Amino acid sequence: MRPKVKRACLTMALGVASLVGGGVTAHLLLPARPPVTRVPLAPEPPGVVADPPAEQPKPKPEPPARVICIDPGHPSENGAGAVAADGLREVAANWQVAQALRTELVRRGTKVVMTKAKEGQKVTNRKRAEIANEAHADLCVRLHCDANSGQGHTVYYPEESGTVDGRTGPDKAVREASGHAAQAMSAALREGLGGELTDNGVKTDRETAIGRKQGALTGSIYSHVPVLTIEMVDLTHAADVRWMRSAENQRKIAAALADGALRFADGAR
Ligand SMILES: [Zn+2]
Repeated sequence: MRPKVKRACLTMALGVASLVGGGVTAHLLLPARPPVTRVPLAPEPPGVVADPPAEQPKPKPEPPARVICIDPGHPSENGAGAVAADGLREVAANWQVAQALRTELVRRGTKVVMTKAKEGQKVTNRKRAEIANEAHADLCVRLHCDANSGQGHTVYYPEESGTVDGRTGPDKAVREASGHAAQAMSAALREGLGGELTDNGVKTDRETAIGRKQGALTGSIYSHVPVLTIEMVDLTHAADVRWMRSAENQRKIAAALADGALRFADGAR
């Protein structure tokens, strides 16, 4: 390809040279021009001058849609989830909030990827992370409810890497981004819920039972994208359970989760 380009350039250069040469010869034969007298233009009466065309605002190129992966926790290799004394199942609460969160994110122009298609579908935590990875998600939001004699919401992130089945992760960039996401998410939950639930702030994967053993949660270890695990309420706390049973409250926490996810995703760009 290269020699062809060179030949083309040479031909063009020769063509220009011959044109210039011809132009010079022709100009020498022309008589000298008389001097031009400039007459000042009369000012135009008002109203005649056409307004300059209005500046058309250039359409801004649309930024690519943010991608949020929603991972409604359970059933997985870690079981079907907790069950409250009154019968509220964690897997159902996770699924219902996930649906509300998806609706909220889509309404805000976000692309949503779900890690499972229906409430009872069993998906391993490794597979859930891989779904978020394949989607190149800006953030993976893992929804859970605790059952640990506490109350309120807690946002967990992998501060350090862990190891499971010979795989060590997540890498430093994912850990740091997850830390930023955790702060944004915790603030959004605090603001969005207005103290209706106890705010336990941000904790690390290490502070969970599985994280203590592995260094990080399995869903974090396999993640190539920023990842958070959110324990939304504690199912051993009767007031938390009552709160979570309300569809209105589920929409409220979903809106706060969407705020947190997008605050992080927008800030990270
Ligand atoms: Zn859970």
